[in-house]
Amino acid sequence: MFITGVVLTDTRTASVVTVFGILTVVLTLGGVVCRRRPDRLPRVTWLLAPFFGAAMVSILNLFTSDASIGAQFYYLWPVLYSANFLGRVANYLVLATVSAGSAMVLFPVEGANQGLSDWTSLTVAMIVTAIVVSSLRLRNDRLREVLETQAYADPLTGVANRRAFDGELARAVAWANRSSVPIALMTIDIDYFKKINDTWGHAIGDMALQAVADALRSVARREDDVVGRLGGDEFVVLLRMDRMEARRAADEIRAAAAAIDSLPGGPPGLSIGVAVLPDHAGNAGELAAASDAALYEAKQGGRGRTAMAHPPTSTSIAV
Ligand code: GH3
Ligand code: MG
Repeated sequence: MFITGVVLTDTRTASVVTVFGILTVVLTLGGVVCRRRPDRLPRVTWLLAPFFGAAMVSILNLFTSDASIGAQFYYLWPVLYSANFLGRVANYLVLATVSAGSAMVLFPVEGANQGLSDWTSLTVAMIVTAIVVSSLRLRNDRLREVLETQAYADPLTGVANRRAFDGELARAVAWANRSSVPIALMTIDIDYFKKINDTWGHAIGDMALQAVADALRSVARREDDVVGRLGGDEFVVLLRMDRMEARRAADEIRAAAAAIDSLPGGPPGLSIGVAVLPDHAGNAGELAAASDAALYEAKQGGRGRTAMAHPPTSTSIAV
């Protein structure tokens, strides 16, 4: 605005300098707010920004009767912005706005023939730019998805790894505390897993881990349910349910594991510890500790069983 409207303009009258001077200051301040305090602005700002930018460029070019290539270059900003940050429909609309805005300047300033030629070139150039940038963005998005999956999934079983599960648990606890809906955490460990490895080999051990993960997934089938593998033969399942429902879900897990028929040594036994927030714990750390303590109790009690955590006053929570 300042360079084109004040420094380089042929019609540098007092009113032109004032208008463009004020616009420069207002837009600079707007830019500073966008940069420094993006959270203070309503979300719709980021959707409207390229339309506003395209309109500003058109008004500037119209005002200065500038149909040069340099003046049209400013349209790259809204096009690149929307191709990189916005969705498909917004992209089409920004391209249409840019195309219409440039037509408003090019035809009156250059006449029909030259105007049509320049307008076509500009529109095609902007469309190609948008296609290239959005393709690059799509590739980037896909790459990020793959990396995220690799960073958060256990490669052997495909369930959440410890890092991902810790995040899910923290989110679920925050949600449960906000909405006063209970969440149940089950810690599940395969009984005598070492023996499966020693008797049938590591590959069969891996198959057992995969089969158990499948059994857990078959029970934790709602969208918010989470299955994770914390390491070795220890799994966790996070369900949004109360104590009674959690006990039923543990029985279902046990039944699903008992139905595994792909292993030479028969279905693996499971020990399960169950803890519920808010019954047994008030935060994520306490919930994990209570579930772990219950699992320890199930193991101590002879394996192949489910143990429910005790209320916080009980000693088993402090173990
Ligand atoms: P318990 O009934 O007390 O749980 O006994 P366990 O034999 O299951 O005990 P432990 O937790 O010591 O066994 C875990 C074994 O899991 C030890 C380790 O060699 C094996 N293991 C850990 N990760 C893997 C893996 O990715 N694949 C296979 N096949 N084995 C693994
Ligand atoms: Mg084990």
